[in-house]
Amino acid sequence: MLVVSSRIDVAHYFIKPEEVETEIGRLRTARKAVAEELVKLQANIAQMGPKEAPHELSALLEVHQMLLQDEALSDGVKHWITDRLYNAEWALTTQLEIIARQFDEMEDEYLRERKADLEQVVERLLHRMKGTAAVLAPTPPRRKRSTGSDDGEDDPTAGDGVDVPLVLIAHDLSPADMLQFKKSVFAGFVTDVGGRTSHTAIVARSMDIPAVVGARTASQLVRQDDWVIIDGDAGVVIVDPSPIILAEYGFKQRQGDLERGRLSRLRHKPAVTLDGERVDLLANIEMPEDTLGAVKAGAVGVGLFRSEFLFMGRETPRQTRLPDEEEQYQAYKRAVEGMQGMPVTIRTIDVGADKPLDGKSAGKQEHLNPALGLRAIRWSLADPAMFLTQLRAILRAASHGEIHLLIPMLAHASEIRQTLALIDFARAELDNRGVVHGSVKLGAMIEIPAAALTLKTFLKYFDFLSIGTNDLIQYTLAIDRTDEAVAHLYDPAHPAVLKLVADTIAECRRQGKGVSVCGEMAGDPLFTRLLLGLGLRSFSMHPSQILTVKQEVLRADTTKLVPWAQEVLEADSPAAMLAR
Ligand code: PEP
Ligand code: MG
Repeated sequence: MLVVSSRIDVAHYFIKPEEVETEIGRLRTARKAVAEELVKLQANIAQMGPKEAPHELSALLEVHQMLLQDEALSDGVKHWITDRLYNAEWALTTQLEIIARQFDEMEDEYLRERKADLEQVVERLLHRMKGTAAVLAPTPPRRKRSTGSDDGEDDPTAGDGVDVPLVLIAHDLSPADMLQFKKSVFAGFVTDVGGRTSHTAIVARSMDIPAVVGARTASQLVRQDDWVIIDGDAGVVIVDPSPIILAEYGFKQRQGDLERGRLSRLRHKPAVTLDGERVDLLANIEMPEDTLGAVKAGAVGVGLFRSEFLFMGRETPRQTRLPDEEEQYQAYKRAVEGMQGMPVTIRTIDVGADKPLDGKSAGKQEHLNPALGLRAIRWSLADPAMFLTQLRAILRAASHGEIHLLIPMLAHASEIRQTLALIDFARAELDNRGVVHGSVKLGAMIEIPAAALTLKTFLKYFDFLSIGTNDLIQYTLAIDRTDEAVAHLYDPAHPAVLKLVADTIAECRRQGKGVSVCGEMAGDPLFTRLLLGLGLRSFSMHPSQILTVKQEVLRADTTKLVPWAQEVLEADSPAAMLAR
């Protein structure tokens, strides 16, 4: 089953059958309030002159009143609440979507334009319902895992309320939206825009549910209650599948479940190659609570805590409230405790580009390229008070366990020196306040080609390096990682990218410094043998990928992979050599 939603900022949760009346009541109250509001507006307008309030305004308000009382709206909403147990906001936006499509199809231009009026009426209703929700916590329905939407055994037309997997099809979702959906009801996501390594896609993958981004017109083509298959591996969305396709995907789904069951037996097995090389498989996390999944998957630490997710989606009506030192300290401490003595690598805030703090467009100046703008460490150095707050919180949390402090997007020696000076300053502030703090290992991300080409400078200052291949590819190949129009050119196996990765690993090994890869490449089993052959022994990825990569490690013999990896580096088209 499918939910199309252009509005993702309303709560989506299931109510209990006994709450149906209350939910319909919330809607009724809101409708009454909006009707009164419109009457009041009409009265005010009546007192104004034709200059201040043209006649059209009054006519428009009448249309709004009509739409508000329209049975297609209220009956539909009641249906979603009663039969599907959607909360009122969700029911309202679902019905809006359906009616809006009908408006879109109308021949008459005047009528077509009434869609905007309907949206305004719904907006008023949603506004009135704010703060009156009876249930705040989402109640997840039974969810189905893996790529297929259904195994063909259910009757797609049964309409049995909550007992079917729901997927969200939207034009765009920001990483903050995605995070909000982490505990939600959806079993899959499709967006029109975005690239495979956009942060939205990364968060979707971390939820281990199928997602396809960059599906262009999906949100226009797919309709409410269509049945869809989301094949996240192939990047394919199939609408209204035939019984044969359903059966095929049902088979795939069962194969996937069997494979997962088989892999789960590797959970407690150390990741050691056939020739005895130990490999660290670490987890990428977005929230302290993700450590639970990391430990369960057998991670030996966190290789990348994307701390910016603590800062996102916190917009209040007045301003964006950033987490203060205490709140951040508690979050980092929870992550450290969650890893039960294993190291946690916390990356300092990396906002900007496709990770705006408020979940909306990064900025008004859309002609600028945010990926090349004030992002990550550049952002932090531009706001030292915010950065120092984060640094103090991390240093304090380091008194509870092993923390590695990782700095994103460095390119210049001057940035390195400023960053280190601020870390020293944060330490001194804590000393002056007499606050306990711990020592941290310091690392830099290598994700700008300029950094990969000046490794000696980086290794002079840092204890370890972590290669962020997602950005390294973006900046090496000049391909916006969020732009589906150039997604086919985003090539992790491009010889230039591989050279930068290989050189970074080799230089770190030569100098006896730690090095890991924490971009999506680390979790892609296609690259495991190559990275092992290049000398990498530390991989950081989504917990859901750890066992797949571990299987590759267990089958690998690095003595054979080293010469092969050199051949791959020399090849014109390394991708052909990686595929088996
Ligand atoms: C990367 O760039 O590879 C990385 C791990 O950081 P992010 O994906 O958060 O930009
Ligand atoms: Mg990055």
